[in-house]
Parts: sequence; structure tokens; C-alpha cells
Amino acid sequence: NIFPIIRKWLYSDRDIFLRELVSNAADANSKLRRLRDLGEINLPEDEQLWIRVAYDSESGTLTVEDNGIGMTIDEIRRYINQIAFSGVMDFVEKYKDKGAETDGIIGHFGLGFYSAFMVADQVRIDTRSWQSDAQPASWQSQDGMAYEMGTSERVDRGTLITVTLSEEGKEFLNGEKVREILEKYCGFMPYPIYFNDVVADRERAERARKASKKEVAETADPDAPEALDATADASVDLTKQPINDVEPLWLKKPSECTDEEYKDFFRKTFRDFREPLFWIHLNMDYPFNLKGILYFPRTDNIYESLEGRIKIYYNQVFVADNIKEIIPEFLFLLKGCIDCPDLPLNVSRSFLQNDAYVGKLSGHIIRKVADKLSALFNNQREDYEKYWQDIGVFVKYGMMRDEKFYDRVKDIALYKTVENDYKVLSDLGDTLLYTPDAGQQIAYVQMARARGLDVLVMDHELDNHYMSFIEYKNSGKRFKRVDAEIGGSEGDADKTEKLTGLFRTKLNDDKLELKVQSLGEDALPAMIVESEESRRMQEMRKQFERMQGSDDEAMDMDSLFPLRQTLVLNQDQPLVSRLLALSDIPGKDEQIELLVRQIYDLARLGHGSLSSDDMASFLKRSAALLDKLAD
Ligand code: ADP
Repeated sequence: NIFPIIRKWLYSDRDIFLRELVSNAADANSKLRRLRDLGEINLPEDEQLWIRVAYDSESGTLTVEDNGIGMTIDEIRRYINQIAFSGVMDFVEKYKDKGAETDGIIGHFGLGFYSAFMVADQVRIDTRSWQSDAQPASWQSQDGMAYEMGTSERVDRGTLITVTLSEEGKEFLNGEKVREILEKYCGFMPYPIYFNDVVADRERAERARKASKKEVAETADPDAPEALDATADASVDLTKQPINDVEPLWLKKPSECTDEEYKDFFRKTFRDFREPLFWIHLNMDYPFNLKGILYFPRTDNIYESLEGRIKIYYNQVFVADNIKEIIPEFLFLLKGCIDCPDLPLNVSRSFLQNDAYVGKLSGHIIRKVADKLSALFNNQREDYEKYWQDIGVFVKYGMMRDEKFYDRVKDIALYKTVENDYKVLSDLGDTLLYTPDAGQQIAYVQMARARGLDVLVMDHELDNHYMSFIEYKNSGKRFKRVDAEIGGSEGDADKTEKLTGLFRTKLNDDKLELKVQSLGEDALPAMIVESEESRRMQEMRKQFERMQGSDDEAMDMDSLFPLRQTLVLNQDQPLVSRLLALSDIPGKDEQIELLVRQIYDLARLGHGSLSSDDMASFLKRSAALLDKLAD
């Protein structure tokens, strides 16, 4: 028996049996339509082709019905007993040794009709072919192996599949769940799908009947019961809302779609009420048959945006979200629908990885995305800059993940300055000053601005990797955090010697790195400068430790990778000059120590590296100083 094997494989994705049955129904309708178009069958132009899914929690059945082509008993023999069955056997043969592979993509691609046995105690077919002389036929089976065939009571053209759910399949007797699956997989199928809860419908009809009886008794209106009785009829009610959209926007010509339609489609498809920034409508027949819409959503949060979805469809039938073999992974930050009718439906992961067509398809999508960005950059620069806050993460991530994408967008990647100007790499010099936090580093930012230098804002968690990446790609370009370089010229030798001695003794730290520079009268008395290399080493180390989840050796590591901080004193600053003068006067030790400590702490405060203990004593000392001022 092959079904236990199939059951096990598809266990995690049993929902797909419903997609398979509904797709078969849609195919049956399409075949009928084709016959009509070929003139083989006379059908009224306006005859609606539909699909109905109904579940009945009392009888424990789920039915899928269509008014398509139907089957004769010979066709059941051929298509169900022979072809479909051998299709299943092929599948089993091919994948029985590839256990691991199957939990990926295969689960998303179905086994057709036989997948119903994953959830069924019995599956029954009642069908009537379009051919006028055909007899209605039936087929039923408990396990997919032994079957009975016979006649059927079916009156209308088309097929009714009745699945009697097994214990395992009972979860599908939940209206919410079935509706959810239908919306997910069948939300854009080309025929209206009507969804019925048989028990609820029956109860509603019963209530209506009772109410009307009562009303009839009261009002004795002879017309009322007739009209209301119609609701009890089990036939398809075409006035009902289908659960799907039979003409998804991606099928329309881009020139015929309005912005409102794009936004509306986005809202409905992704249940996302934030407006998308912009979108790309893919619509081509050659060299790929590819249609779809990709949206750039409004978010600069990489974790949130990683939940973005690219839904892959095969002729309007949902296949899966985010298949990374078809859609390069970085594009998952976008949201969208892609319909690729040329993909073979029964595919495995290794097939997709090795298929040249799939590779080209993915390259084509990347190019389209890059083209759209370039067009915005060239023609709508202002909008592009506005969008950057949201799309920057995506572009940067894409550049790091995909070489082809990098090549196409490297010259249009923006760098935001603290003044909210946007620059491209070629606008900037070889040394790129940046700050992860302009507020905290304001003292340094002001220094750089006073020197006429641009300061870039690099405040995303992705940015550290991104900067290393850009340096790697552009030899000569070097990012420097704004506190790693403050400019200024060397201080005088004698002042340097004197101040070094003073600070080392008063701070009781003979290893204190100290430098005296000429930074101008208006600059601060002292600043901390931190070497870019040592800070990056520290950051890498910390990240490594976080990944390892242990900080046992943190102590040793600290001495292995010391943070190279230097206290820079500004010899031009009046307070520093007065400190120097004071040091020549005997008996001023206490005052000098107070000043030295305060200057040092102010520098660390401005740098954001004042430890909590030092912060406490700084606050106390500041209060004491103010106290003196009030004397
Ligand atoms: P596939 O759909 O991939 O061909 P299936 O196992 O789902 O494989 O179905 C096998 C065949 O049975 C179909 O190709 C079709 O000829 C026939 N069939 C299945 N469902 C229907 C239906 N609702 N109406 C008419 N024919 C059907």
C-alpha cells in the first residue's frame, strides 16, 4: 500500500488535497470552455462555470463540485485508474529514497486526485460527461487501491467529488479552516468558488421556512412561502460572493491598472493596511511566461520585513510562499505575487536548483527590480530619497546577497548625511565619516561639520556589515566612525609633556593614552578618540560571543583586544590653558585634581563611554562644583 508512505511525506501539508481537487475542478471547467471555443459544444455564451466547495459537519464530508467537462465511465477508467494512479506510483518511485528533500518543496506540489486519500476514509466521484449521450458514472474507493465503479444519480453536467473525512482529516470539518485554505491556495483561481457550510445553510433555510410559515399564518400572504423556499435549494447560488478573485490584477495590462487598484490589491492580498511605496508589474510572454506584481512595503525593520511574502502561483493556483530557488532570497523583503505557468508542477528542490530556466527567471526578476530602482533614481530622485528610509535596508541587503543585483544598483545606493542630504558613493571622499547615533555623538559630529566634512548616518543593525562590504568592494574607501578622527594639529611639546603628567597622576592611571592637540578655542577642552580598528575588533568579538552564547573567557579577551581609547586635550581651549597655569602655582593640588577629573569625565560623557560608577561620582562632583559656584 503506497498511501501510508504518501501520508507520511505530506503530513505537514495535508491542506493541499483541497487545492488539488479544486484545481482539477478548474481544469475541468477550462476544458469545457475550450470545447465551446472550438465549437464542439453548444453552450450559452453567458453560462457561468463555477466550483462549489461544501462541508457537512453532520455527515463528516467535504465535497468539491464543478460544472465542467465531466467524465464518462471509460474516462474514469483511463484518467483515474490508470493515468492518475501511475502518476502517483511514479512519484513514489522517484522520491521514496529522498526523505529529507521531500519536506521542502515537494509538499507544495501535489499528487493530484489521489492526495484526497491523505485525509479520507472514502473518496467518491459522481460525474456526468458533457457528451449528450453519456451516462452518469461513479467511482469510489476506501484506500485508493481497491475501487468500485458504477452508475450515478448525477443529473447535471460536471463532477462531484465527495470526501468522507477520516479521523486524521477531521480538522477539515471546520468552516474557518476550509475557508482559510481555499483563500490561500485558490484565492485567484479563474472560476468563482462558492463555499457552503451545509449544516448552517440547512439551519438557515429551516429558520426561514418556519418564520415564513408563521408569517403566512399571521398575514395570510399567499406569495411569501414560494419566494422563501428557494433558499432551501441546495443548488449553487450565483448571487453569493465567491471566495476568490477570478481576475487577479497581475493578469491585467500594466497600462490599464490604476494606482488605486494596485494599492487595493496589496491591501486585500497581504492584509497590510500600510500603503506600499511603489511596485513593479511584471508582465511578459517571452522569453519567460511570467506575470506578477512586486510591492515595496513600508518598513525599515528588517525582522518585520523578513516576513514579507512572495507568493508563487502556477496559472493562478497558489504553490508556495518564498521559494528561494525561484525568487532570490533577498527579494523576500518585498511582498508580491508571481505567476509562472511555465514551471513544471511536479518539481523537487534539486530540480529547481539545477534548472537553467529557473536560474534565468530569477536573474530576470532581479533585473526588473534593479531597473525600477534606477528609473526612480534617475527620474524621480526626490521620491527615491523619500523611499530610501524604507527601501534602504532592502537594497543594502540585496547588494550583499546578490552579485548581479550589486552590480546594477551600486551607483544608486544612497548614503544619508546628518543633515538629511542623500549622496551616492562617488560624491564622497575616500574616508567616510559616519555616526550610528548623531544625538549621542553630537560633539564629534559638530567637529566634523566645522571641518566641512560630511557625516553619514549609519544607524541600522545591517550597517556594520554593509560598511565592511562596501570597503571590500571599493579598495581605498574606508569608513571611520566620527569619534575615530577629529582632526586638529599636534600640540606643543612642552604642553603635551606637562598635561600628560598632570592627567596621569591626578587620575592615578599611568597607562592613560593621552594626546595634546590644537583644535581651536571654540572646541571642547577634551574628547575621547577611539581607534576604528580596535572598535571593530571588539564589535566582531562581541558578536562572536553572542553567537557562541558564552562569555566565560571575556576577561582574557578584553586584554587580547583592548579598546584603544585616547584622551585628546585641546591646548587652545581657555580652561585647559588655565589648568596649565594653575599647575605652576603651589598648593593648588585639590583644585587641579577636581578640574582634571571633571574634564576627563566630560570627555567620556560626550563619548558615551562613562561607566556607571564613574557617572555616579561625576554627578556628585558636579553638584559639589555648583555648590561652590553658589558661595
Ligand atoms: P492531474 O490533474 O495532474 O492530471 P489528477 O490525479 O489530479 O492529475 O487527475 C487525473 C485526471 O483525472 C485529470 O487529468 C482529469 O482528466 C481527470 N479528472 C480529475 N478531476 C476531474 C474533474 N473534476 N473533472 C473532470 N476530470 C477530472
